[in-house]
Order: sequence, then structure tokens, then C-alpha cells
Amino acid sequence: MSMHCIGLNVLCVILIRQSDKVPRWLNVLMNSIYFMMIVVVCSMVSAFVFIMMLEHVYEKYCLRRVFTGLIVVNVLYLAVVLWNIKSGIIFYIDSAGIYHRGTWNGLGYAAVAAEICMIYICFLKNRPSVSKSMVRVICTIPPVTILLCVFQVLFPEIILNETAMAVANLILFIAFQNRALRRDYLTMVGNRESFYEHLTLRLAGEQEFQLILLSLRQYDIVNQNYGHQKGDEILYAVATELGRLIPGGEVFRFGNVDFAMLIPLQSQEQAAINFRTVKERCDETWSVGNIHTHVRTAFMYLEYQGGECTPSQMMEYLDYGLRKAKEKPGVSIHFTEELLKEYKEEKRILEIMQRSVEQKRFRVWYQPVYHLGVGVRSAEALLRLNDYEGNPLPPSRFIPIAEESGLIDELSWIVLEEVCSFLEQNETDKIESISVNLSMQQFADIKISGRIQECLNRHHLSPDRIKIEVTERVLLQDMEYMKHVMKEMNHAGIRFYLDDFGTGYSNLASVLEFPFECVKLDKSLLKGFPENPDSEKMVRMLTELFHSFGNSVVVEGVEDASQAEQLHRIGVDRIQGYYYSRPLPQEVFAEEFM
Ligand code: C2E
Ligand code: CA
Ligand code: CA
Repeated sequence: MSMHCIGLNVLCVILIRQSDKVPRWLNVLMNSIYFMMIVVVCSMVSAFVFIMMLEHVYEKYCLRRVFTGLIVVNVLYLAVVLWNIKSGIIFYIDSAGIYHRGTWNGLGYAAVAAEICMIYICFLKNRPSVSKSMVRVICTIPPVTILLCVFQVLFPEIILNETAMAVANLILFIAFQNRALRRDYLTMVGNRESFYEHLTLRLAGEQEFQLILLSLRQYDIVNQNYGHQKGDEILYAVATELGRLIPGGEVFRFGNVDFAMLIPLQSQEQAAINFRTVKERCDETWSVGNIHTHVRTAFMYLEYQGGECTPSQMMEYLDYGLRKAKEKPGVSIHFTEELLKEYKEEKRILEIMQRSVEQKRFRVWYQPVYHLGVGVRSAEALLRLNDYEGNPLPPSRFIPIAEESGLIDELSWIVLEEVCSFLEQNETDKIESISVNLSMQQFADIKISGRIQECLNRHHLSPDRIKIEVTERVLLQDMEYMKHVMKEMNHAGIRFYLDDFGTGYSNLASVLEFPFECVKLDKSLLKGFPENPDSEKMVRMLTELFHSFGNSVVVEGVEDASQAEQLHRIGVDRIQGYYYSRPLPQEVFAEEFM
């Protein structure tokens, strides 16, 4: 349009110069069209500026008002241009074919000025939600336009109207060029940076919105089944369909196979409907060509209804909620006040742990293990930590957080170091070994065997003084690799215990393939024991089974005499539980049992 206007401008000048050869009515018509066009093009640029400026403002009536204003300006101006044909108020061409400016010749500038005013008012009202590139546009286009207009008024013989338009277009083009970089090349929706920018502007403008995050689970299976090319195409289909699903909703690629939907919040009821719509769609199949596949999806969603929240805080909540959703297959996580509290509590615990590592506040306690017919011959090392008010934090609370954050690695080495130095300082032949719990993360370190041996050597301990407790969860991570690591460590004389047996879901046969010295039956197996015959039968059978495979058996969580006596009769090897002793601080344990 701008190019046509420039062409028209040039044409009008030529026609006026050739007025002796051109009929008067043609000159009037062409100039009238030209006068109308500049205001129309100006309004189009303004409309574009408004749309981009209000991109992150949900209140669409704002945009409607703006458009009404633009239309009114254009209609009024059109009326004046038509009236000009009779009155010559903007321009007229005399009988000799000479062009004259009318008294209202500058009316077009007034129209443009009115639009610029509207842009500024709108900008000031919605300042927090205006993107950086738009702010740059707002700061450059109007001053440049005004300068050019002033120049035009001062030097009317040089025609600059369309130069102004071209400059405006160029500024817009440059300002929004970097938008392409914020698109995800594969799915063609906004990428994570773009999502962050949108979020920032929505939060800054205190606009209410709903966020739905979804994560496609086990997508590697889709890639394996159909190939990566098709896998990519399915992702594209998911993004495209999600984009069409909710009116006003925008889709972003939040992670590799995670998508975020940002939707204006109309009401809680509508939000619930939106979520249901998305979930129902994701429960169906995705189709690409003749491929139709189900992809299991984890969901988290939240509604923001104002309140203090920075974009990075919001991103943390989203990551947290999505992680929770991934942990619980089939459960959609609604990020409510309650979950926010939980998140803050986890964060508090993590901060306490991080500071406590630096300040060496972690303690290792020892729970004696009673060897039947012999007495206490071993113990389990258990971490203890108090918060800064002195209240003990239960390991069942802080260990999972340490595992998620990766801090567990450091903690495990602290425990091992502590246990080794404890054994070195308290020479005794009463306590044969102390067992240490290791989590999944330690086994990711391929030098783990060497590191443990180095620690033992440094404290002049033989490898049988330390036992490593692992749960089935650790084994199942990568069975072949774990077998390899365990064999390597067994070779060095370090033995493993299988912890919490009875809480996992693994196949018994596959567990038996691992070289364990000892199996610890979990306290959950003692529910109703010994009165409940089923529970009694279970413990008896498991004990016999593990004995036949050459493993010794420890029963955990023994709390009373009747349990201990019955376990004695069944023939388990060792008992660990409050009945014999609770975990004890190092000094107490050393005094009583070493
Ligand atoms: P776990 O390895 O199964 O440790 C045994 C837990 O059972 C301990 O809880 C112990 O206090 C508790 N317990 C022992 N006897 C009884 C009993 O008779 N009745 C009941 N109700 N409980 C009993 P604790 O110390 O709270 O530790 C909980 C879990 O935290 C541990 O379970 C272990 O998974 C983890 N944990 C503790 N210390 C460490 C550590 O240094 N590293 C790692 N990776 N995990 C640790
Ligand atoms: Ca344990
Ligand atoms: Ca256990």
C-alpha cells in the first residue's frame, strides 16, 4: 500500500505538470484518491502498531475502541476529501489546470497527529504490558513522523509524505525482525524465551491468565516406533492442534516435549472447561499421515489472578508443578495455594541443606542392628539435620529433596567420610560393619568404586567394614550397568545390601540376579505381624527364599517383643528396630556398643 501511495504521489505530480494535456477531472480524481490514501495507509500502520502494542493485553475492548477511533478518523477525512471536490478546501485545480493548496491542505497531518496521540495515550495506559521492541517503535516512529511533517510544512515544495510512511514501515520491520528468532523452528510456535517474554508482560500488566503445561511422556518410544522424522511431525501436529483448541490461547514449546498454553482467564469455570478440553484432546490419538498414535501426557495447570509474582518465580512454580506431574502418572497437578506452600517448604529445606553443608551441620546417627543370638554387631548410618530453630527435619522429607536437587551426592560422601573416620577412631571388634545408604546419583559417577576404596584406604579400613545399601529403584535405573558396578565393587571386597525390600514393584527373579550379601525386609511387611497369619507367612517364605539364595536377612522396623520373638523363631538373621534401639548420636552409640 505504501509503495502504491508513493507511485500515486509521483503520478499526481507528473499529471499536474502535464495539465495542458490531461483533463481537469482526472487530476482532481487522482489527487483526491492520493489525499485519501495517505490517511488510510497511516491508519493501517497505526492499526498494526496498536495490535502489536496491545499484543499482551487481554482486554480486547481496548483494541476495539482503538479501531473505532481509527475508523471515525478515516470516515471524517473521507467526507472532507469528497466535500473538497466541490469546495476546494484541501486543494483545487483552476481552469488553467494549475494546482492550488486549499486552507485545510494540512488536514491529513491533523489526522495523523490524532492517531499518534491515540497511540501515546494507549501506550501510557498499558505501559507494563508493552514489549521492549514495541517500546522502541513507540519511541522512534512518532518523533520521526513529526519531524518529517514539520519539515514538510516548512518546505512544501519538497514532497515527503510517503518518505514518512516508508520510514515508519522500515522501523516496524526492524523492530519485529527478531521475532523470528523467538519461534521454535520445529513446531513453529513460540519458544521458551518467547514464553518467558509473554509471561513477563502479562505479569507486569497484572493480567489474569490460565496456564496449562503438558509434557509428552516416553516420547522416545514414539521416535523409536516411527522414526525421528515422524516424531518431529507429530510434535508439529500437537503444537498446531493445541494452538487451535482454545480461543485466545497461545502455545509455546516449553521444553523438548513440553508445551505451555497461555490463555486469558475469564472465570474459574471457563478455566476448568479449558483444561478439560485440552486434556480430552491429549487423551485421543495424534495423527500424521497414516500414523495414529497415543502419547501419554502429564499435565499441570494454574490460574493467575493477580498478586506479587515475578516471572522467574512463576517459571520455578511451573517447573516444580511439571516435575510433580511427571512423578505421578495419570494425575494432573493443579497448582493451588496448597502446592505453593509445599513448594516454598521444599525450597526452605533445600536452602537449609545447602547452608548446612557449608556449615557442617549435618550429623550422622547410628541405629544398632541386632544379630540374633549374638548381639549388636552392626549398624546403619542415618543422616540427621535440624532446622535453624532446632527442630529435627525427618530424612524422609529432606532426602528426596536432596535427590531431586543433586545435593545428595555431596551428602553421601559426607556420610561415608564420617562413618569411615568414626570406625577408624573407635577401634573395636564388636562392631563388624556399618552400612551406608547410597542413592541413584552416586552410581552415575563411574569412578564410584575407586572413590569408596580411596576413602577406606585413607582411614586404614578393610573393605568389609562398610556395606552399601541400595533400593530396588536404584537397580532398575540401568540393570546391566548396576550389575557391572556391583561386580566390580564386590571384587574389591565391598558388599551390597538390598534395602526396603517389599516396597518396590520389581520382579523378584530380576532382583535375585544381583549379587547382594543381605536383604533388608521393609517394615511395611510387618503390618499385623505376628498376629496376622498372611504377614507371618510372607516373612517366613521370603526368609527361606533369600536364605536358599545365600543372602542373609535383616528385618527392619521391629517395634515390640512379640515381633522379635516370632522373627527369632522364623530364623531371620538380624533385627533392626525401635524395639532394640532407635538411631543414636555417634557418642552414645560408641559408648554403648563399641
Ligand atoms: P531406611 O534406609 O529404610 O532407614 C531406616 C529408617 O527406618 C530410619 O528412618 C529409621 O529411623 C527407621 N526405623 C528404624 N527402626 C524403626 C522402627 O522400629 N519403626 C519405625 N517406624 N521406623 C524405624 P530415618 O532415619 O528417618 O530415615 C528415613 C530414610 O531416609 C531412610 O530409610 C533412608 O532411605 C533415608 N536416609 C537416611 N539417611 C540417609 C543417607 O545418609 N543417605 C541416603 N541416601 N538416604 C538416607
Ligand atoms: Ca537403609
Ligand atoms: Ca530400609
